[in-house]
Amino acid sequence: MTTRSEREKAQKLNEQHQVILSQLLREEENKHCADCEAKGPRWASWNLGVFMCIRCAGIHRNLGVHISRVKSVNLDQWTPEQIQSMVDMSNRRAKLLYEAHLPENFKHPQTDQAVEVFIRDKYERKKYYDKEALAAATVSISNSCFYMLSLTGQSMFL
Ligand SMILES: [Zn+2]
Repeated sequence: MTTRSEREKAQKLNEQHQVILSQLLREEENKHCADCEAKGPRWASWNLGVFMCIRCAGIHRNLGVHISRVKSVNLDQWTPEQIQSMVDMSNRRAKLLYEAHLPENFKHPQTDQAVEVFIRDKYERKKYYDKEALAAATVSISNSCFYMLSLTGQSMFL
């Protein structure tokens, strides 16, 4: 049984998580799907830390939970760990990590079939993945992220 105060606490936490998620979605790289660049992603893979469109969310589901764990930004309840994973990664860092070896002139696929092939290459086969690429860029990114947050006067961490 849950008490009223426990329910209120859970509701409050949920509200805080929604605030963090909507702040994350305002970042430039999170305004487009991590995989097909469709506008206004409302879905996420919390273990991969990427925001994506509804079509790509369906493809991610098909990969299985050992690769990708999909949630709706607005319709699902999030745990603090899942939120933290999105804050730590999000589309900008994920791009460095999972698209490190993407050819310069690569065009993101648009048809359903091509998007699925790309997503499987990217996360299942890790064809373009480079762990070192993220580590090398982490310092400059966290600095610019801090700069951006201090400019807007908002704190990401409630
Ligand atoms: Zn997409």
